[in-house]
Amino acid sequence: MDKRIRIGDDIDLMCKRCGEQTTHRAVAVSAEGKLLKLLCNTCGTYRKPAPSKASKKRAGSVTQAPVIPAGKAALAYDASCHFNLGDVLSHPRYGLGQVMSVLGHKITVQFNIGQKVFIHRS
Ligand SMILES: [Zn+2]
Repeated sequence: MDKRIRIGDDIDLMCKRCGEQTTHRAVAVSAEGKLLKLLCNTCGTYRKPAPSKASKKRAGSVTQAPVIPAGKAALAYDASCHFNLGDVLSHPRYGLGQVMSVLGHKITVQFNIGQKVFIHRS
């Protein structure tokens, strides 16, 4: 369906006020042919077309989760084990994390909840 909508076009839509599908007239259309405003011919209510799901903003969904490299096996955290930079480890309390830095016997691990410092066998 590539028919562009023009002002004055009749569109059958569900009208909340009428509670049924009624004929709506396009009263405002953008330059791209996108429907901006409709008028129900039955009850005379102006309404905006339902927003498309694709344009829904995903703000606030930014996650701090570490990017676990594909195919990398998570090692169970154990203070007696040695970890290298970039290793993925599984902690009983914090879940999956990635080693962000190794300094002597200390490793900094990025988890979903933030960074934690652990000891390991250096
Ligand atoms: Zn209506």
